[in-house]
Amino acid sequence: MAAGTPVSGGRPWGQEDLLGRLAGAVAGRRLPQSLLVHGPEGVGKRSLALWLARALQCEAAETGDGPCEACRNCRMAARLEHPDIHLHFPMPRPKRAASRAKLREAIEAQRHERLALLREDLHARPDADAVTGLYVAAVENIRDQASRRPSMAGRSVFVIEDAERMVPQSASPEAANAFLKLLEEPPPFAYIVLTSSRPDALLPTIRSRAVPLRVAPLPTERVAAYVAEHLGVRDDDRARGVARRAGGAVYRARMLVDAEAGESEAAADGLLAAALDGTPQARYRAASRYSARGARGELEPALEALRIRLRDMLCVAAGAADAALDPDRANTSGGAGSRDARRAAGAPAERAVLEALGAVDAAVEGVGRNLNPQATTALLLEEMSAAFAGRSTGRTAGTPQFAGVLRSL
Ligand SMILES: [Zn+2]
Repeated sequence: MAAGTPVSGGRPWGQEDLLGRLAGAVAGRRLPQSLLVHGPEGVGKRSLALWLARALQCEAAETGDGPCEACRNCRMAARLEHPDIHLHFPMPRPKRAASRAKLREAIEAQRHERLALLREDLHARPDADAVTGLYVAAVENIRDQASRRPSMAGRSVFVIEDAERMVPQSASPEAANAFLKLLEEPPPFAYIVLTSSRPDALLPTIRSRAVPLRVAPLPTERVAAYVAEHLGVRDDDRARGVARRAGGAVYRARMLVDAEAGESEAAADGLLAAALDGTPQARYRAASRYSARGARGELEPALEALRIRLRDMLCVAAGAADAALDPDRANTSGGAGSRDARRAAGAPAERAVLEALGAVDAAVEGVGRNLNPQATTALLLEEMSAAFAGRSTGRTAGTPQFAGVLRSL
């Protein structure tokens, strides 16, 4: 993501009613200062909490429309650079430190490292495999930051994620009590927004001091619309299938689509490698990965990814690498440099790539008619190998012969 691009900008998707109520409460100065945003994992609690933080800091907050996303406060907040919006989250326990002060410094440094990662990708999860918590020293940092007057805006906002991971504070009752006091009676300028996927696991003393705000899972149809509009899944059945598995959470839908895309990319690479290899054994191995019976779900996205790969190779072969959708990969698989250099490096010529594309088009058509995926793949690879080996098949994109062969399968 380019520098300066908002990472947390935009309205949380599909939560219009909730956002409208919150924006109204901000404008009317009715928003409780201690909130607990809860709801299932992946439903958009972080997006919502950060949206609320922008709404509180926005120079146009009084309009009641939520953050304008254009003023200085909104733009800094969207880049996670606003000095009066403090995002805290569970992290691994830092190494032992010489003193409590050193420990708190180490935790704060660790938090800033992670904020830098989140600026690149708001959904990055650097500690996904680690044991993490909101430890006493972190809570002390929050309490100190909250006692200071905001430096730029009139308010300070604390977003404290996964608040149920705040470790029992028996080691430091003072810290625990100070935090509870902060929640119960924040300074007039401070807002504390806790988030949790497991509100039942929150310390009761914390839960009772924050006003709950539920982010509900979205109906499947809404998530399907998100998948189609924002994740580029044009096939209705596929979009709905992803939405069903996402359980009302757009974040999970995005993960599922990414994972699917990753699998299709790998599958496309496998098909391309087998075709370029040229041996019947390589083709057989690649084709036998696909079922001999109807299941088209796996082959279809692989063929789409393969089509994009070949299209990019064609762009490179035609000297228009900048038109490729994924130029880096196209350059490595299609061969960069002058036409002669590419030929010397064994990169397929334009005509060969065109013929391979024609074979893919026909295979896509065949799969659409529920033809045997394994046999379709075997035939596709044979065609592509022949094209890459310079044995012209005489077919290019859109010609019917290959489809004729498929029909007879
Ligand atoms: Zn604004």
